[in-house]
Amino acid sequence: MKIAILPGDGIGPEIVEQAVNVLNALDEKFELETAVVGGAGYAAHGHPLPDGTLKLAKEADAVLFGAVGDYKYDSLERALRPEQAILGLRKNLGLFANLRPAILYPELAGASTLKPEVVSGLDILIIRELTGDIYFGQPRGVRTSPDGAFKGEREGFDTMRYAETEIRRIAHVAFQTAQKRDKRLTSVDKANVLETFQFWRDIVTDVHQEYPDVALEHMYVDNAAMQLVRAPKKFDVIVTGNMFGDILSDAAAMLTGSIGMLPSASLDANNKGLYEPSHGSAPDIAGKGIANPLATILSAAMMLRFSLNKAEQADRVEAAVKKVLAQGLRTADIFEAGTTKVSTSEMGAAVVKALAK
Ligand code: NAD
Repeated sequence: MKIAILPGDGIGPEIVEQAVNVLNALDEKFELETAVVGGAGYAAHGHPLPDGTLKLAKEADAVLFGAVGDYKYDSLERALRPEQAILGLRKNLGLFANLRPAILYPELAGASTLKPEVVSGLDILIIRELTGDIYFGQPRGVRTSPDGAFKGEREGFDTMRYAETEIRRIAHVAFQTAQKRDKRLTSVDKANVLETFQFWRDIVTDVHQEYPDVALEHMYVDNAAMQLVRAPKKFDVIVTGNMFGDILSDAAAMLTGSIGMLPSASLDANNKGLYEPSHGSAPDIAGKGIANPLATILSAAMMLRFSLNKAEQADRVEAAVKKVLAQGLRTADIFEAGTTKVSTSEMGAAVVKALAK
């Protein structure tokens, strides 16, 4: 099995190195090949997603991605900015399902801004559709308003749209993922106001007929936002569109209070995927050896589970992460009194050690 390793910028190389050490400690035969991406891609080849990197990502069975971006590239034209590499990879690899777990290990309950009893032991999964919705719908732009109360004035406009195929395929991913968990799925929409999301609701309800063992609930997005901070543990799997998912998954991530802990996966129709931590390249702490590598290590665990069919190895990695937290080891971002502060590489080495049976 071939894994494309794309460390990227900022803390990317430091945290990916630790995840690679974990993969190499699993006694599995993985072929790992590394390529530049993001600002590093631009610096080496004049493009954030160089041809060789895209070719490697396409031929690999899975992609392990660090993070991209640095303020020094902010003045580049949009098409050459490091972040364009992510959009390019999503598009070229056909990645349409973004899976973001929000898990709060009991040892870290104090890191959340919510009361420990509300979030301790939280384990939910948000599935965000990535290819459709108002982010990509045409037409869009700024024009002179052709009608209405502001006729003749300049106006900005976008188009919200979802094709039936797009809704069906994300619904299947959501129901199948729920089947592997607590078998409860909440589909989040705005069917009371938006035609697009009434259609979404109708299609999700139709797909549900194929998954009678999963309990389906529909919820309006405003209520979902409220429930996420009121009683987040009530959810199991949430599925929603591109824009609502963008917002809700960040809110859910923050429930845990520790961005350095959250993995993510973006999957295509055949479960090939790109795996990356939910956080960015953290240029403010790059090169200092203090970044938390656990989100990247947990992303590698998701890769083992979803793309490489190695559920047992994924369990091993996740158990090792729990073990090091129980041992009281903490990088600076999750450090609190009474625990032991460790560096990026010390945390990675502790996870490797904890893998030993
Ligand atoms: P960020 O996630 O990089 O950092 C936000 C804060 O969290 C910073 O204080 C940072 O030090 C801290 N942090 C992030 N990851 C951490 C870790 N593993 N351990 C400890 N602390 C961590 O977000 P930002 O500052 O808004 O963006 C920085 C750059 O990252 C920008 O160029 C942005 O475009 C890019 N970015 C990239 C991705 C991606 O590659 N998928 C995602 C978001 C942002």
